[in-house]
Amino acid sequence: MAVDTKRHKNRCSFCGRSEDEVGFLITGMNGYICDSCAVQAYEIAQEALWKNKAGGMPSLNLAELPKPQEIKTFLDQYVIGQDDAKRYLSVSVYNHYKRLLQKDNGDDVEIEKSNIIMVGSTGTGKTLLARTIAKLLHVPFTIVDATVLTEAGYVGEDIESILTRLLQVADYNVAEAERGIVFIDEIDKIARKGDNPSITRDVSGEGVQQGLLKLLEGSVVNVPPQGGRKHPEQKMIAVDTKNILFICGGAFDGIEKKIAQRLNTHVVGYNAVRNTATIDRSNLMQYIAPQDLKAFGLIPEIIGRLPVLTYLQPLDRRALRAILTEPKNSIIKQYVKLFEMDNVKLSFEDEVYEYVVDKAIEYKLGARGLRSIVETIMMDAMYEIPSEQCGSFVVTLEYAKQQLEKANVARLQSA
Ligand code: ADP
Repeated sequence: MAVDTKRHKNRCSFCGRSEDEVGFLITGMNGYICDSCAVQAYEIAQEALWKNKAGGMPSLNLAELPKPQEIKTFLDQYVIGQDDAKRYLSVSVYNHYKRLLQKDNGDDVEIEKSNIIMVGSTGTGKTLLARTIAKLLHVPFTIVDATVLTEAGYVGEDIESILTRLLQVADYNVAEAERGIVFIDEIDKIARKGDNPSITRDVSGEGVQQGLLKLLEGSVVNVPPQGGRKHPEQKMIAVDTKNILFICGGAFDGIEKKIAQRLNTHVVGYNAVRNTATIDRSNLMQYIAPQDLKAFGLIPEIIGRLPVLTYLQPLDRRALRAILTEPKNSIIKQYVKLFEMDNVKLSFEDEVYEYVVDKAIEYKLGARGLRSIVETIMMDAMYEIPSEQCGSFVVTLEYAKQQLEKANVARLQSA
């Protein structure tokens, strides 16, 4: 009797277990598969697909990749000015490709990576540059914020979590992530406070820099695939950072003082007078040198691992005016498009642009403020016009003034 029941039970064609030994059975044409075998089969299939993907990764071909000049031309469409930073970035990205393509031909010459650090006041386009370059990259790319990083054991993210995001954009394909580029924003926030090593714990300072150093140098790091410390049970994934390019950006508020100090202390000797005469005091950032980063509180080892140092200019009036209308997705073009979707032709009097720039300068809002000012001016129109079907709308200087004066300026200033 027992034999009979056994014979009549449906069984998984893979593991042989009967239907009451498994969660459930899925019926096929000539057999069955149980839930746990289905899960295993899925995992095997995923793994095989990944391997295939890794083998057939979009192979880089130097002839087809954009050259530094082409990369810069592309950046020019979205980012105003900042030529120095654009050139450095373009060359670094191109060299990154070259390094990935290098073959070991026995000549012992190995192209090493050159991580980059970009210094420039907040709102001058560092993140915008990074985001824009991401659009034309042929490798995984991610932007992470250094402010969340703290030393292991403290509240915040471990340094390894920087790579979690890269793994995620690479679809957890480790080989692909190991060729990627990471933009670390606000790197200045992990600077040591003050020039002297402090006796008290500096949770987000030197310890974090030591951790970061490991990544920059190139080592095998255990990365939590889901990031954070919320999933202590997660299995770590080993990622080799040797070929990952790191681009760091930071405002380094007050670094101009350090630059000025250095320039002054160097002004000794016979040539001193001539040298100081040529220094443009209104834009000291252009003279930035690695020792200024050290004076700011980055440890020398980190600076050594960021051999390409470039800067972003403060945005002057002309740049702000250009940012309003010239980039491919400029603020004004975005509003015109918004209105176009309601079949309304939106236009601005030229004086409005000047007025917006004036206000951004007056309230010290920089490029970020341009959007909030235009938003304030356009709010009523955006509210009313979709229901009015008026065909066209011209923003006059008078209208702009009236709208902005009506609004609470204090709110703008906190933007
Ligand atoms: P940062 O990272 O240097 O603090 P962002 O790149 O985030 O500054 O810039 C803030 C905003 O200001 C951007 O989204 C962009 O709209 C505008 N902006 C800043 N600099 C430029 C620039 N050089 N060209 C065009 N837009 C800019």
